[in-house]
Order: sequence, then structure tokens, then C-alpha cells
Amino acid sequence: MREVDAEALARDVAALVQVPSPTGDERAVLERCGELAERLGLAAELHGHDLAALRAHPGHPGEEAVRSELWGLTVTAGGGGTRVCLNGHIDVVGPGEQPWSRDPFSGAIDDGFVHGRGSADMKGGVVAALHALAAAAGDLRCEVVLEAVASEEDGGLGTFAALERDDRFDAALIPEPTAFAVACVQAGALTFTGVIPGVSAHAAVRLEGASAIDRYVDVHRALAEHERRLNADVAEPLLRDHPLPYPLSIGRVDGGRWSSQVPDRLEFEGRLGVRVGETFEEARAALEAVVRDACPEAVIAWTGGRFAPGATPPDHPFCTLVREAAAEVLGAPPPLIGVSYGSDLWQFTARGIPAVMFGPGGLERAHAVDERVPVDDLAAVARTIARVLTRLGDG
Ligand SMILES: [Zn+2]
Repeated sequence: MREVDAEALARDVAALVQVPSPTGDERAVLERCGELAERLGLAAELHGHDLAALRAHPGHPGEEAVRSELWGLTVTAGGGGTRVCLNGHIDVVGPGEQPWSRDPFSGAIDDGFVHGRGSADMKGGVVAALHALAAAAGDLRCEVVLEAVASEEDGGLGTFAALERDDRFDAALIPEPTAFAVACVQAGALTFTGVIPGVSAHAAVRLEGASAIDRYVDVHRALAEHERRLNADVAEPLLRDHPLPYPLSIGRVDGGRWSSQVPDRLEFEGRLGVRVGETFEEARAALEAVVRDACPEAVIAWTGGRFAPGATPPDHPFCTLVREAAAEVLGAPPPLIGVSYGSDLWQFTARGIPAVMFGPGGLERAHAVDERVPVDDLAAVARTIARVLTRLGDG
């Protein structure tokens, strides 16, 4: 096994951060990633997916970003009967409205960090996996396919497309920023929009109208109560200690026109956590019933991304292998955790492929200003993944 070069790893992460790749516009960064792979002596292949066919597929996971094409990159090494997937997304969320301390796409390497949007979530993890694969390539007894995918942030179409091409994997590792925890359980999520009609009237005679805002207040209270119910008696052991495993959050409310008119329409949208073991249908029906009871006039539509919950048994040999390899690098075995956020993990577990997330720190600033990832963490992740890869397979 070759040694992982932390400085070269940091430089490659910076190079990818410097190619902005908001969801929907990922081709350039995938090309750059392919160049980095080839420079490391690995075989990379960029491919365009048939977007129309994917959109017509019954398993299509949903989309939110505007997109006219979908690209994916695979980097393959080794061979043999056992096949392992390293999966990571290279799309990023926007820099947001708040000012950053430096250019969001600087890729600056400073104070032991790589700075910039996507450094932690998760170009850092993708490049760490790439360097791990290069380090392990000469000692593999299995075939490893690294999938760099688009469209994770808006539902997971990139991984869906990659797995439609090839899903013959015995295990998958996703280096999302878990701060060295091994995440094998994850809550799901659904996004929705609601429309509440009202009856308009002059504000001076408001009793002749019916305020859509007043009606929404009842709905909002009912949704808060629903969230409390979802998070009482959490069945999944790895999520039981989580402060709020299944959040139900309203992210936008838009209603009324001006002060002297009773509002006749309000729109809202939100995100619903889906419990481990619960189907999308069950989660949708429960929320719709809650809204209907609070406001019979309200109409709910299920829009945008959907992430099913996913779980790999904590005592699965692949979880154990990742923890043992990490223990050798970090000095102690990392914790096993469940997480409340969506990722592409479920797409593997839904196909019967055991999957875990294990990656660097930095999640606390992912999707926020001044995102950054520790270089030492990236090197430790790469060393762990390289160990995992060399221990899989036979012969
Ligand atoms: Zn991510």
C-alpha cells in the first residue's frame, strides 16, 4: 500500500473547490476530477446519462435544480469477484446571502484547512477516496468503482443514474463529512408545498372574509404537534439519542398582499423527516391527515427531492471492517451513529447493498458560510479507506 500524501490531497481538493459546481451544472468539475484521477494513474470514465429516460423511470428520486444534462464519472481499479463502491457527490449548494471571510470558491489552503464551498460536503471526501484508491491500487483483491456523482443535493438523481448503470456491489462507502463516525442509519426526508385559500375582504370588515394566514397558523401548530409525535418513542436505537431525528420544518411561507386586505391565499413549503422503517406513502398520508384536520381547505403537493430512510445493521461485517481500519488510523474505534439528514446512502441499502458513511469533519459549516475541511482529517479518511479496500475480496 502506498503512503497517502496529505499535501497533494489538499491541493487536489482545492482544485475541485475552485471549479464551482452548483447542482445542475456539474460537468466541468467532473472533467477536472477525471484529470486528477488520471494523474494519479487511475482509469476514469466520464459519461452522460439519458435524462429523459431517468425522468420517466418509476424510481426517479426527484429533482429541484434546473438541469438539461446529467453527467457522472467512474474511476475503476482492481478486479475480482468482490466489488466495492466508493460514492461521493460533487454538486454543491450556493454560497448563500451572508458574506464569507474569503471567496467561497477560493480553495485556499491555510491553517491546516482547505477552504471553500464543497470542501467538506463533499469534494474533500471524493478526493480522499481517489487518493485512497491510488494508494491501494497495487494491493487490491477486489474491484473498486469510485462514483463521482451529480445531483445529490436535490434528491440523488446522480447516484440513481450510476446505480441504474451498475449496481453489482457487495458494499459501499460514502465519505460524507461524519467527523470520523461510522454512520450506518439515516432518516429519510420528503419535501412538500401547501396552498391555503382564504376569502378576501376589506380589512375593515374582516369578518366577511376568511384569512389564509389565520388558517395557516392552525396548520403550523398542527405540524409542530406532528413533529412531536414523530420523535416520541424513536424505534431505531442509533437515532434514539439524537436531539431531533425526524424534524418537520417549514422553510417558506408566503401569503397576503397588503395590510388592508384579508389574505385570500397563502403558500408554504417544508421538509418532513421520514422514520426508519416507514414508507414514503405512510409518511405522506400521515402529514396530509394532520393538515386536513387543521384546515380542510388546504392542499398539499409532494415536490422536489425525496430521500428514503436507510439502514445497514451496525453489526454487519462491513461496518466492523470500516471501524477496525479507522481504529488503526485514529487510535480508537469510531462511534456508530444514525443521522437525521438525507444522503445517497439509502439508494444503496434500498438495493440490498450494505453501505456506510465515514468521512472528515466540517459538517457544521457545510451549507453555511466559511465552509472548510481539516487537511489532517482528509488524510486520515484516505488512509482508512485504503486499508478497507486492501482487506476486501479473496485470493
Ligand atoms: Zn453531502
